[in-house]
Amino acid sequence: MPIKVLEPDVVSKIAAGEVVERPASVVKELVENSLDAGATQIAVEAQGGGVELIKVSDNGTGIPASELELAFHRYATSKIGNLDDLEKISSLGFRGEALPSIAAVTEVEILTQTSSETVGSYMYSRKGEVLRTESRARPQGTTITVRRLFRYFPARLKFLKSANTENSHIANLVSQYALAYPEVKFSLVLDKRSSLHTTGNGDLREVISEIYGSELAQSMLQVDQNDGLPKVSGLTSPPSLARSNRNYLSFFVNRRWVRSPLLTRATEEAYRGLIMDGQHPIAAINISLPAQELDVNIHPAKAQIKFCHEQAVFSSVHKAVEEALAKTPIASSKSVPFPVSSGQWQSPRMIMDNEPAFVIAQLPAMELPVLRVLGQLANTYIIAEGPAGLYLIDQHAAHERILYDRISAQWAQKEVEVQGLLQPITIELSPREEETLRASKEFLAEFGFTIEPFGNRSYVIRTIPALMVRANIIEIISALLDSLDIKESPNPWEEKITQSLACHGAIRAGQQLSNEEMRELIKQLEQTKQPRSCPHGRPTMIHLSSHQLEKEFGRIS
Ligand code: ADP
Ligand code: MG
Repeated sequence: MPIKVLEPDVVSKIAAGEVVERPASVVKELVENSLDAGATQIAVEAQGGGVELIKVSDNGTGIPASELELAFHRYATSKIGNLDDLEKISSLGFRGEALPSIAAVTEVEILTQTSSETVGSYMYSRKGEVLRTESRARPQGTTITVRRLFRYFPARLKFLKSANTENSHIANLVSQYALAYPEVKFSLVLDKRSSLHTTGNGDLREVISEIYGSELAQSMLQVDQNDGLPKVSGLTSPPSLARSNRNYLSFFVNRRWVRSPLLTRATEEAYRGLIMDGQHPIAAINISLPAQELDVNIHPAKAQIKFCHEQAVFSSVHKAVEEALAKTPIASSKSVPFPVSSGQWQSPRMIMDNEPAFVIAQLPAMELPVLRVLGQLANTYIIAEGPAGLYLIDQHAAHERILYDRISAQWAQKEVEVQGLLQPITIELSPREEETLRASKEFLAEFGFTIEPFGNRSYVIRTIPALMVRANIIEIISALLDSLDIKESPNPWEEKITQSLACHGAIRAGQQLSNEEMRELIKQLEQTKQPRSCPHGRPTMIHLSSHQLEKEFGRIS
């Protein structure tokens, strides 16, 4: 279809608005245009967090010279023509807003050529004003270079985060589209560093390997739900490979990258009972259904969608992921760690009385009495006796409290104990993790981590905090980067690091402990300032008083 300005009746129906929020939104619009143009190769480059430069080159259809200027008009698009088309959008773009919006706040250069032209066309504009057009040759495709984003709008520029943060958004965005289009060869260069490179051979597992590492890619489970609608396909992680946030959950609807609480829930419910609370799977899942079955015309950024039949979508996704999980032996053998529900301990009489059999220790009494270890329950709880009755101590929560107090004390006194590694550990980071690491290297150094680049998104860890010597360092680093990447969290970085180290460095539920180890753990817990709660505020222990015991056994009434 040639590029045309949409009729007013269509314009009035589209969810128009701001599309250029930050550098990554420019990248998104340009990459989507390249995909809509059928490109099989897309090269993205950014400098200075995208504020200095963003360049996207593709080998797609190109724009005919006669339509080039029109492409920069508001509501000019080749993708839809009338109101009916709006009901069944099959392209990523459809509003004809991106190019004019981008051009209005930047300097844009475009060089494009179609297959039927012998020479291509070039255009240069600043703040939306065309300053130069000429004929220039290039192979078929389009290259758009955007410079000095918001330079002429200082108020907008002020709101942008650091270049590193913007880079991490761009890295994430290109990674997502690489996952959605494994048959397209993507490359991303950030500040002249190669950040991502996919082969475009159509293999999703290979893209996952490039972004998240080969180990993870190998263990991902195939999701394949082909009968009925919608079709669901992709890869999802085995329960043993959960992450502490949802950054690794990617959903695409007809290959559009979307944020959808519905799809997140449908997927996560399939993992219920298989992974711990607060943990999230890793997945790249595409849902395909007829264009009429969904509405993408909700928000200018087009990242939100509405399904006509939400329930059907939910069930298909849930079922598809459940089936993928059922294929692993782990899913059937692994169960939730020992349940903490107090119901298990209640006698029938107590339930009728509606009175709990035991109460969680009252927080104000901070100090712990001297405790004597009796044993370990379900490899998860330490059973101990004190002058006032029985104590059940959650070994993970207790150790977390101990580590948290020690790490914060060492950091506050600038006396973090550092341990050099005889055998340095190498870690491979995703493009997004790499940007987070570059932004937070100094912070991590203050906590004892020396991490050096080793080329190709590999890093070498030379020193770690001494308190973490027994922990799985690779896991700790990836959890740290996750927690530092969560922008919405109001916690300062030192709090994020301390919490993450304490949580991931602490012994796990399910780990068998010797009597010696249990005694040591309790001794250390006694020395903390708030032994009765973990840093997240959950209790470290449950106390069953002698009085309650006597009452339970009917010794007293
Ligand atoms: P939309 O994508 O909503 O149609 P845009 O403003 O993003 O609006 O683009 C306007 C038009 O310019 C598109 O409809 C398309 O015809 C053309 N166009 C933009 N980028 C490219 C590209 N990389 N290759 C080919 N055509 C393009
Ligand atoms: Mg577009």
